[in-house]
Amino acid sequence: MNVYDSERMAEALVLSGYQQVETADDADMVILNTCHIREKAVQKVYSDIGRIKPLKKKKNDMIIAVAGCVAQAEGAEIIARAPVVDMVFGPQTFQQLPDMLDEVHALRAKGKKSRLVRTEFPAAEKFTALKSVTRAPITRSPSAFVTVQEGCDKFCTFCVVPYTRGEEVSRPTADIIAETQALVDQGVCEVTLLGQNVNAWQDRQSGLRLDGLLAQLGAITGIERLRFTTSHPRDMDDALIAAHGNNLKLMPYLHLPVQAGSDNILTAMNRKHSAAEYIELVARFRAVRPDIALSSDFIVGFPGETDADFDATMALIEHVTYAQAYSFKYSPRPGTPAAEDEAQVDEAIKTTRLHRLQALLNGQQRAFNEAQIGNILPVLFDKPSKKNGQMSGRSPYLQTVHVTMDEAIMESVRGRILPVAITAAHNNSLSGHLSDGD
Ligand code: SAH
Ligand code: SF4
Repeated sequence: MNVYDSERMAEALVLSGYQQVETADDADMVILNTCHIREKAVQKVYSDIGRIKPLKKKKNDMIIAVAGCVAQAEGAEIIARAPVVDMVFGPQTFQQLPDMLDEVHALRAKGKKSRLVRTEFPAAEKFTALKSVTRAPITRSPSAFVTVQEGCDKFCTFCVVPYTRGEEVSRPTADIIAETQALVDQGVCEVTLLGQNVNAWQDRQSGLRLDGLLAQLGAITGIERLRFTTSHPRDMDDALIAAHGNNLKLMPYLHLPVQAGSDNILTAMNRKHSAAEYIELVARFRAVRPDIALSSDFIVGFPGETDADFDATMALIEHVTYAQAYSFKYSPRPGTPAAEDEAQVDEAIKTTRLHRLQALLNGQQRAFNEAQIGNILPVLFDKPSKKNGQMSGRSPYLQTVHVTMDEAIMESVRGRILPVAITAAHNNSLSGHLSDGD
């Protein structure tokens, strides 16, 4: 979601005459788009400001902005702690960036200190304003994100999102279709729909749900692949499960975070589903799409997590088997109920549990990748690999695939979906060669 927001900020600036540069050294303005989800992400903001500070000393008229959820949560505090920062704005206000910049420049022209803090707007206004912004081609990727839903009303007890991103708001169907069409016109053929709870999306007027939206988007000429993230197990409905069997554009990949495998912990987290219900949900997806690649988020060391609770998470992973996953040590977030819990888990225990969990998940990911050796997979080519003479792309299961090819044809395969014979599997990627289809 932050990648999407950053791209939209870059686009808004490109449309008001700015140009994107590769490094902070070359920039007249630096925007740090921030994440507040775990404490480590917050600390990174201040260390990044520290790194940029000397550049501002060299270039006095440089503008430093902090955007996103840390900005939303800390507001003017950021300027108090880091006076080198000129602008602070939350995730609901970034579409006003060009206007805010005009204000900063006007203040500077009057010889005043430029300080601007904006953290007040609701997500609905953000979507209204987005309508008027055309997508400018800042990247040449054939794959793009489209935000369809913002905010969260779930209030999982560990999570800061409902406080920083506000209540759940869905974007109207027509806006989503218009944005997707504009992307297709620029050469995009794969769209990933984004939302904190993307499967809670619903068109307020027509009542359309995500399966219906995916059907409409799949009918757009030029759209070859559709994905969506992140789903909440609670909001999953029969029609969306069925879509994985009957919408041919929908890729066989599902990120469905479970967080933990112990019912005690799931209750304490306010997830409102049991481990057994989650497992049953997964079985329903596998029934309509047996090859579906599953992904999840896990938190270890949630307050009160015992060895037995942790073992239940490990057992759930063994049972489900994931193609890939994200896992984190629980990080107490200010203002969330779990942060107040007295039964905080010792840091060393969290570390040991995370290592054990990640070893299991990495093994499953490796096995999932190895199972593709010998298969021919359609790969959407995106960009040159770091290694010379290779292009990289994505398999339907979202694996990165590196393919060695003649330099002469590299540009012509970009943005195309071509069959690749998979010859090797690695921890995080596959490699292979272009196949003539036999
Ligand atoms: N809406 C999504 C998740 C958004 S946050 C969902 O409900 O699945 C992304 C992930 O960050 C979460 O799934 C969770 O695993 C992790 N996370 C959120 N708050 C956290 C915290 N306080 N400590 C550690 N991990 C956290
Ligand atoms: Fe956070 Fe829970 Fe909402 Fe996901 S569903 S964003 S974890 S509160």
